This record gives sequence, C-alpha cells and structure tokens, in this order.
Amino acid sequence: MRNPRRADFPLLAANPELHYLDSAATSQKPRVVLDAMRDYYERDNANPHRGAYDLSVRATERYHDARATIARFLGVADPDCLLFTRGTTESLNLVATAWGYANINAGDEIIVTALEHHANFVPWQQLAFARGARFVVCPLTSDERVDLDALRALVSSRTKVVAFSHVSNAVGTVNPVQEMAAIARAVGALVVCDGAQGAPHLRVGFDALDVDFYAFSGHKMCGPMGIGGLIGRRDILEAMPPYQFGGDMIEFVRDDHSTWNVLPHKFEAGTPNVADAVGLAAACTYLDGIGMDDVLAHERALTALATERLSHIEGIRVYGPPPAGRSGVVSFTMSDIHPHDLATILDQNGVCIRAGHHCAQPLMRRLGVSATARASFYVYSDERDVDALVLALDKARVLFAEPATSR
Ligand code: PMP
Repeated sequence: MRNPRRADFPLLAANPELHYLDSAATSQKPRVVLDAMRDYYERDNANPHRGAYDLSVRATERYHDARATIARFLGVADPDCLLFTRGTTESLNLVATAWGYANINAGDEIIVTALEHHANFVPWQQLAFARGARFVVCPLTSDERVDLDALRALVSSRTKVVAFSHVSNAVGTVNPVQEMAAIARAVGALVVCDGAQGAPHLRVGFDALDVDFYAFSGHKMCGPMGIGGLIGRRDILEAMPPYQFGGDMIEFVRDDHSTWNVLPHKFEAGTPNVADAVGLAAACTYLDGIGMDDVLAHERALTALATERLSHIEGIRVYGPPPAGRSGVVSFTMSDIHPHDLATILDQNGVCIRAGHHCAQPLMRRLGVSATARASFYVYSDERDVDALVLALDKARVLFAEPATSR
C-alpha cells in the first residue's frame, strides 16, 4: 500500500509508480498550497502597503497573516523578527553582508563547520577575506558529526561568528544546536543557524533554540520556490544596517540622507512576494496538521529501514551517524560506480535520487569522495520507495559486475 498522504500531492497522485527520493533538494507541493496561491491571485491580488483601496488592504492582510502563521509554526513569538527572503541562500548572504560588514574587522575569527552547504560556507569565507579576518573550519568526528571538543578548543575572544547547519543536507546529521550555541555564546560570538534542512523536518522552536539567526527555504517544506526567511533577534536586527535599498524599506528620503522603516520592512525592499508567502503559510499549516514530531518519526523509520537494507548490498557505504542521529537522508557510495551512473540507472527504474557533491565540496573532500548518491525521504515517502531503491541498486550492482564488453 502506498502512503495515503501521496493523494494530497497532485504530482505524486498523478504518478503512482514514481519514487521521488530527492526531497532534500526540493519537496513536492500539496494541493492546499497550490489552492492557497491561486485563491490569493483570484481574490485578493494587489500591491500591498501602497494602495489606499480595499483590495490593496486585503493583500496587505494576507501578507501579514502569512507571516504570523509561519512565525507561529517556527516558534517565533514576534512575527516582525521573521523577514521574508528568496530562501536560505539569500538569508545567509543578508546576515554575512549586512551584519558582517558592520561588525567584522581584521584579526577577528569566523568559524563554520566542515558539514556546511556552500550557502553557509562561502559568504563567511568571502566576508573573512574581505575584512582581513581568519576563517576557521571546525572538524568532524569519524561519523560526520561536528566535533564538539574541537569546537570548544577553537572558540576564543577573537571569535565573532559561529555558523552551522541545523541538519546537514549532504549526510543528514542533526546537530545539537543548543549545545553548539552555548559554546559560541560563552565567548560572545554571533550564532547563525542554517535551517534549510531543519525547518522542513523537525520542530524548530526558534525562541528556545538560543541562536541569533535562523535561515530557511519554503520550497523544501512543501511551500513554493522563491520564498524563505530569516529569523533574527530584534535587538540585532534593529542595530543592523539594511541589506537592500528601495521602496517599502524607507521612512523618509531627503536629498542629503534617508531613514529606515521599522521591522520587518527595513529588510524587505521592493514589492513583496505575497502569493508565495501565502503558499508557504499554507504549507506550515499542512505540516502542523501532521505534527512535526510525526514528520521526523516517519522519516527516521524510513531512514533506518533503508540504511539496514542497503547494508546487505555488496559495496555500499552509508555516510553520517546512525539513523537516530540523522533526518530523512541516506547518503552513500557503491563500490567504484560513479554516483551519477547510479542515479541514471535508478531513474530508468522510476527512482529519483540526487548524485553529486550536494553543494558541500569541503565535506566531500574530507570524506575522500567527489560525490555521493543521496536518497531523501519526506512526509509522502513510504516503504515501497525503499523497496524500489533497493531493487534498482541491486540491478546496478549486477550490471556493473558484468564485464564491460557485455554491457
Ligand atoms: N543550506 C542547506 C543545508 C541546504 O540544504 C540548502 C539547499 N540545498 C541551502 C542551504 C540553500 O537553500 P536554497 O537553495 O533554497 O537557498
């Protein structure tokens, strides 16, 4: 029996034999999200904040309500501290640029971990280079967890930023955010958490996490592409200069100076992406209806099943900690078969996985591989997806075991 939740997702419902195992890259979208966006455009579309007419007021309310719903879902008591962006990449660049250029100086240190996606690595690296600061990469344990003892030894009074992911996209490691934040706090460093793989899969509870910034992407959590957010602490956001300039983000503009609007508008220059915000709010309501504890438990069960079954296939190596320390990600290599070849064979069997460096080249280098194959699960995945994955990998093993001439 297929997971009944597939019926909520038009693309999956229309393709009963499709095994979509690339949700860490982007999730499928439930009908409620598509309907909410269509409803907004059909009934309430206007440029918000600007018009003095009822339709524009309604658009403003939809945008405002969407922010409130998403903030509630992520455990943020003050919705004005949730800024809409295009997604995690833009959110992290916003912090590294707006906060970074105002606060990082020569001799300072910025620490990231070897698990990071390029979006939480390169902006900090480039900021450090531009400001003459030291860029430090915290090492990992042998099972791809952040080495907390090493982090404790690395931080010092020179450390101004510690940036790390909530969950690794490449190997699925769930980081102990509060413990890492405490290590950074002990030296007064800014704590930045990349939640691209956190928000879709587990209960975030921003206000209890004790981080200064948390970045996320809507498209990985059942929402549309092109929207995500940055949650920040009010005092830091208020002290920080704007990232972009233009409409909506100003208070007064004079020839000789300008002043800035209040939060969140100060960081949302230009016409906002209302329909996608409405869609993302519907996605949060959908996930809330399942319950994030159940989302994680479902993914973990499939991760454990897949990891166990892959362990019986000759030549497979799975990366990362045991399934209880991962989200719904199974990252692996198979003998000397290139992950791209594996992905092609799996695709021919209706199984969609990702192969590559997963935008985590520093991690791949440490693993001693150029790429891995990655299967990732979500709310609509089921045991039949695992069966199909295992069957297709077995076919690949047989195919590649044959002499090249007979292929
Ligand atoms: N960080 C992590 C951990 C991710 O998985 C991703 C997306 N693969 C990003 C950052 C970047 O997210 P986006 O492309 O949505 O900006």
